[in-house]
Amino acid sequence: ASYSRIGATEPAIKAFLTLNEEGARAQADKLDRQLQEGAERGLLFGLPAGIKDNIVTEGLRTTCASQFLSNYNPIYDATVVSKLNAAQSVTIGKLNMDEFAMGGSNENSRFFPTRNPWNTDYVPGGSSGGSAASVAAGQVYFALGSDTGGSIRQPAAYCGIVGLKPTYGLVSRFGLVAFASSLDQIGPLTKNVEDSAYVLQAIAGYDRMDSTSANVDIPDYTSALTGDVKGLRIGVPKEYLGEGIDPRVKEAVLEALKVYESMGATWEEISLPHTDYAIATYYLLASSEASSNLARFDGVRYGVRADNPDNLIDLYRKSRSQGFGPEVKRRIMLGTYALSSGYYDAYYLKAQKVRTLIKQDFDKAFEQYDILIGPTAPTPAFRIGEQVGDPLTMYLNDICTIPVSLAGVPAISIPCGFADGLPVGLQIIGKAFDETTVLRAAHAFE
Ligand code: GLN
Repeated sequence: ASYSRIGATEPAIKAFLTLNEEGARAQADKLDRQLQEGAERGLLFGLPAGIKDNIVTEGLRTTCASQFLSNYNPIYDATVVSKLNAAQSVTIGKLNMDEFAMGGSNENSRFFPTRNPWNTDYVPGGSSGGSAASVAAGQVYFALGSDTGGSIRQPAAYCGIVGLKPTYGLVSRFGLVAFASSLDQIGPLTKNVEDSAYVLQAIAGYDRMDSTSANVDIPDYTSALTGDVKGLRIGVPKEYLGEGIDPRVKEAVLEALKVYESMGATWEEISLPHTDYAIATYYLLASSEASSNLARFDGVRYGVRADNPDNLIDLYRKSRSQGFGPEVKRRIMLGTYALSSGYYDAYYLKAQKVRTLIKQDFDKAFEQYDILIGPTAPTPAFRIGEQVGDPLTMYLNDICTIPVSLAGVPAISIPCGFADGLPVGLQIIGKAFDETTVLRAAHAFE
């Protein structure tokens, strides 16, 4: 059913970079056999899953939507993929994205842009745009994405589905091609909140292969979905509803707050005073970490190697010039500059300090409130091509998601209405490792 749906919708949506039809059928047949032999069903038994193409899959091409890795076949599975296999979902294929997860529209894919299923003239968001579009188009039941500064939540909002960025450290990144290691998290994109809880249950947990993995007890996420939000204290950051926010988005969020009130929750306006500095801080830190992480792509170890180099340096230069697209080069240059001696204190170190101030804004808010609510993105999806020549405008689309990433706390985006036929996302932010409250609040609204 999944592949026939893909056959019908993929020409218009273009969500997949690689299909795994033979592998998926073999996986499904094996599950069938095990069931007949009396085995118990796994948590995600038989569910068709899509995987963002920066999460490695053994023997299944993993490109990060980059020319550099256009021929790369990993020799191992990411921890999340092994966990999905153990939960018995079926891997349908690998999903399009912005190259190395740098972007917010899928237009930075080196292969082709994915389109928004609600209106194919519009972007699906990004960088996990293929993941969001595929779930929204009913090609897969759920998908995995990665979120560094909003890349799960923003495409979920643009495509009218549910996207969860877990607490930093809750889900292992072993086998996720690193972009900015102090920010990257893997999480589920699903049609509803209950599915999100099931997928999180399957992928969360300590992994000794990821040095930042948190050794915490994993609660039962689905049993948290009680529908009860009576007495829940909601903070609404005024910075997320101020200048630059589309009035239709603001309206949808205020309507959602009324729904929470009617269910017995209370809300107040609060301030996260360092929000203004979040974008600058993020682009310094993320680009610096990216310039270091992407040094491994040298034409020797992975992927495509340039032909006829004059010497070793020329091999690096040619391979990297040909392999990386313009946005990736922009970030590598920005990050290399920020980390160079003489500039480190002025930029990288300063950004680290501001990051702490941003995190403290959240710590303070959570002394008084159980969750924070705001929009996921300032506007609904925009037209393909509309912002592509203007990286700075593109960076501002993440103003509501980036502070959350810098603070490392969990947040979910759920649909909360439409603006001219395009979905609007509501963002619910929680305390570190308090996914249960985030999911409970999201589920009660649905
Ligand atoms: N759009 C942001 C960026 O371009 C976030 C990307 C992400 O979360 N991977 O960096």
